[in-house]
Amino acid sequence: MLYLSTRGEAPARRFTKILLEGLAADGGLYVPERYPKADLKSWRSLAYRDLAYEILSRFMDDLPDLRRLVHRSYTKAAFGSDDITPLATLEPGLHILGLSNGPTLAFKDLAMQLLGNLFEEALAREGRTLNILGATSGDTGSAAEYAMRGKQGIQVFMLSPHGRMSAFQRAQMFSLQDPNIHNLAVKGVFDDCQDVVKQVNADTAFKEQYRIGAVNSINWARIAAQVVYYFKGYFAATRSDTEQVSFAVPSGNFGNIYAGYVAREMGLPVRRLILASNENDVLDEFFRTGSYRLRKTAAATSSPSMDISKASNFERYAFDLLGRDGQALARRWRGLDSNAAVDLSLIPRKGFASGRSTHADRLATIRAVHAKYGLTIDPHTADGVKVGLEQREAGVPLICLETALPAKFADTIREALGRDPARPAGFEKLEQLPQRFEVIEADAAAVKRVVAGVVARQM
Ligand SMILES: *Cc1c(COP(=O)(O)O)cnc(C)c1O
Repeated sequence: MLYLSTRGEAPARRFTKILLEGLAADGGLYVPERYPKADLKSWRSLAYRDLAYEILSRFMDDLPDLRRLVHRSYTKAAFGSDDITPLATLEPGLHILGLSNGPTLAFKDLAMQLLGNLFEEALAREGRTLNILGATSGDTGSAAEYAMRGKQGIQVFMLSPHGRMSAFQRAQMFSLQDPNIHNLAVKGVFDDCQDVVKQVNADTAFKEQYRIGAVNSINWARIAAQVVYYFKGYFAATRSDTEQVSFAVPSGNFGNIYAGYVAREMGLPVRRLILASNENDVLDEFFRTGSYRLRKTAAATSSPSMDISKASNFERYAFDLLGRDGQALARRWRGLDSNAAVDLSLIPRKGFASGRSTHADRLATIRAVHAKYGLTIDPHTADGVKVGLEQREAGVPLICLETALPAKFADTIREALGRDPARPAGFEKLEQLPQRFEVIEADAAAVKRVVAGVVARQM
């Protein structure tokens, strides 16, 4: 399988080359040259890790040890059960797909645990090191750090918006004492963090000298890993391969739902992908109107992992909408890259629906689901359930993706239900642990200084 850049300039490359690279040299994102075809009949009965291998081996066909790495990543020890992503049925035709049983209690562990093992293997084979530079609005950072902690040859530099994450998220990341983990709290919002990462990556000399790599959802391996649970959820909710289902997906960076789109392009019978935004509703607006209109900044909300105004994976979807014409995409993206308030008009594909949710909706949904089904859901999952139920069609099973556990967002749960969410074992005293982080300006030069300093100390 070859990977193409969405900007049409960088040469096509094999998977192991794009794995460590992040953005393509022309500033684009890598996408596979074609979508491999699903084999529903033989995949239906597979255990998660075997299903994952079947799917991932279509995308990662130049990694001889893939089966072993997949099996090492998707274990009962890491995810609490051999199901990995258990499906809970609330009532006939309404399901919650549990994606948040990994080490950091959010769906990002599903991709990141694999990525940690892929990186370690690829680096060992090439005899080199990697400095991972990432931006997080909360869950990516902790998932990445828990996947990379203690890994040979890897340093992690994670930018997060200072004071914007929940106390639990902050404690999860900042309490890690592993010497290869570096937390940088940026004075700004998530979009500022993401822009700084892009700027550092745009300095190709620095990027090469310091072997900068990415773990944000721009990394194709993460998208591919997320494709797996759409299949798993479909098989758990249906009896035959002719049935259609819809998925409700709380969305920020468009990574999770884009993986659902890839699953459908591979042949998974998905009727609708229902996108849920919070108050930061650029994506909802796009799917309702065809107009992709950036806001100046993202508002801080009670579903903070979706507080994003520029969804990086949207570029991959737009590439398909533009007939895979990289030059056409590069022309349209010029304004976006400089944060201009451009209006990108594109025609969305059929098979998407969307909606938005507010803080009040979130609280009402958390209460309603708790009262009716005895289940506590986190605020992001609530955004998805709210919009999913609005868009639900009679006779079509609806699978709502649970993207985090409520324990991560205690303030909102307390506001909704008047009590604290349950804490999984091992997380009882998290906030009391000592924290390690450095506050910096939203400035690429500041980040480069930190990276250079750490690398110098290693030599
Ligand atoms: C990251 C995240 C999202 C958004 O997923 P995207 O892939 O960025 O669209 C939603 N909910 C939670 C809990 C998350 O951590």
